[in-house]
Amino acid sequence: MNKQSWPRETRSTCCYCGVGCGVIIESDVEHISGVRGDPAHPANFGKLCSKGSTLHLTARPEQRLLQPELRIGRADPRLPVDWDSALDHAAERFADIIATHGPDAVAFYISGQLLTEDYYVFNKLAKGLIGTNNVDSNSRLCMSSAVSAYKLTLGADAPPGCYDDIAHAGCVFIAGSNTAFAHPILFRRIEDARKANPKQKLIVVDPRRTDTAQAADLHLAIQPGSDVMLFNAMLHVMIWEGWCDEAYIAAHTENFAAVRQAVQAATPQVAAERCGISVADIVQAARWFASGPTLSLYCQGLNQSAHGTDKNATLINLHLATGQIGKPGAAPLSLTGQPNAMGGREVGGMANLLSGHRDLANPQHRAEVAALWSVPSIPERPGKTAVELFDALHCGEIKAVWIACTNPAHSLPDAQKVREALAHAEFVVVQEAFRDTDTVPFVDLLLPASTWGEKDGTVTNSERRISRVRAAVPPPGEARHDWQIAAEFGQRLAQRLGKSALLGYPDTETIFNEHRASTAKRDLDISGLSYALLEEAGPQQWPLPASANAGTARLYADGRYPTPSGKARFHAATDLPLAEDTDARYPLHLNTGRLRDQWHGMSRTGKTGRLFSHVDEPLLSMHTADMAERQLANGDIIEVTSRRGALVLRVSTSTEMSTGQAFLPMHWGEQFMRGLGANALIEGATDPHSKQPELKHAAVQVSKLELP
Ligand code: SF4
Repeated sequence: MNKQSWPRETRSTCCYCGVGCGVIIESDVEHISGVRGDPAHPANFGKLCSKGSTLHLTARPEQRLLQPELRIGRADPRLPVDWDSALDHAAERFADIIATHGPDAVAFYISGQLLTEDYYVFNKLAKGLIGTNNVDSNSRLCMSSAVSAYKLTLGADAPPGCYDDIAHAGCVFIAGSNTAFAHPILFRRIEDARKANPKQKLIVVDPRRTDTAQAADLHLAIQPGSDVMLFNAMLHVMIWEGWCDEAYIAAHTENFAAVRQAVQAATPQVAAERCGISVADIVQAARWFASGPTLSLYCQGLNQSAHGTDKNATLINLHLATGQIGKPGAAPLSLTGQPNAMGGREVGGMANLLSGHRDLANPQHRAEVAALWSVPSIPERPGKTAVELFDALHCGEIKAVWIACTNPAHSLPDAQKVREALAHAEFVVVQEAFRDTDTVPFVDLLLPASTWGEKDGTVTNSERRISRVRAAVPPPGEARHDWQIAAEFGQRLAQRLGKSALLGYPDTETIFNEHRASTAKRDLDISGLSYALLEEAGPQQWPLPASANAGTARLYADGRYPTPSGKARFHAATDLPLAEDTDARYPLHLNTGRLRDQWHGMSRTGKTGRLFSHVDEPLLSMHTADMAERQLANGDIIEVTSRRGALVLRVSTSTEMSTGQAFLPMHWGEQFMRGLGANALIEGATDPHSKQPELKHAAVQVSKLELP
């Protein structure tokens, strides 16, 4: 290639959060030299946050896993091995375990950071080829309660709104999300909208006075876990004041009578006491919400809860009661934590789902997918969801696990138990770009994977927008693409199991085309979308059926919902206590969450010195009064203890905190601190509908550590 053409520019997508910003990667033949925002991308219009703008510093070859490594005995060191030997060994071990114990003795634990095409291959490998539904994703930790609530109330896993609604909203209602830190570019769009329309109201529901809450017109600093009470009380006020849209309720919804009954006892007075806020603030929030148009944005504060589905659904109730869906500026819009949690769900890459938003529990859906894949059947037995999967590994029901692009020793609740599960397993495979995650020490076979800047495929962001991810450089060393590793393993395993090989894909476009064909006539129909259209017209929002020229910005504008009756369904729920309440021994509510400049377990952001200038070590934040009670000063070394474990770190006073509460960032793991990280303190209690764990809460005690 002509030397004059360097640096080359490649359009792609940021690999961090679910905002899904477009990037332009600058590179030469082998090295990425820079990154900037893509002005043409409709999620970010050229802007990037601190994480996105340092992406080029995070995937250097010297930081990467470059060759497969295998150990035969648990006490042996892992040694370099060639790809053929590595994959043959893996196929042999999986075939032996399946022959002895059946297909449900193996499992796959994958990631919302995989591309849609990667997800598709893993799902087909597990459910189509092996015949197990034991394939789940770390998206279970992120979005599954939002999914359950959408399906329960609106009939489909489909966020109805879009980012453009921010500019049209009269009220932005943020619940359980520090958007300023976790989805920064979206927050900048909110700031821009407020500058353009000073009348727009911003309400933030969060126990902490976060940066997002500090920008609000009304901050509702509720007690941890009291969200359902707040939303029910807001609906109570709307009904009492006559602020509901009775015509919309009558024409487009059902079950309102049950909800009216459920919220009767949630008076503002009762809610004020339970939530720890004033009656006036509850009434004000209800008034601004009902005046609309209101856009609700919400994330882990609602999702990561043992009652996450109820929290999501009772918020959606407010939109249904006021007829605020499908109109400019009016919608519930869950924010996706990961870059492709939504794409993974589209292809059914979770234990309870099948391709094209089909449900495993539905016999018709199983038959359709079996026909699509040309396999005799899809097993009916439910697969294990994330926490269940590692519990089954812990007790020996699952013998082998294949982990791709995620770090469960850090990110799952009850981290010590997860480590014991990995240590007990007969065979653990990890495919990873980086060699220093908390999970790697437990691995028998470590496979080097490509990562951002090297991969090709698609992702879907929080507003249902599908964007292309493009490779600027080849993977370093012997690293291979995630879909390729899964497919090559599957071909070898099929031979040993005497099954037909299902995964002979030449490239990601072929996988995408198979996926889009599976969506025809489904709620997320993208049969009209192709790589060529994405190239020509840029990122598109689903649905985009074969008859359409472009995607769909808003859903349910006609008031028709994908339910059997065509109506949305109110969900009646009452306030329930936290899975683990405080008591005399563990008197503080611990909240965990994200910092502005770090991402998840820091396997990527932890390699960029610049990103430590904001916060350079994990600190437990507490209210001054709680610190004084324990005779703690800023910077003291403390031990924070729950019923499951303890961590040692420094404490810091914070004006964000209310009394009785503490906050710990979830990023630092064993690689960076003494202790296993925040999730060592967290219980594995899960939501009964979504199976999402209550990662945002534990009861803890804090004491000063007297150093010798
Ligand atoms: Fe990346 Fe999210 Fe930042 Fe956009 S807002 S640049 S997607 S981390």
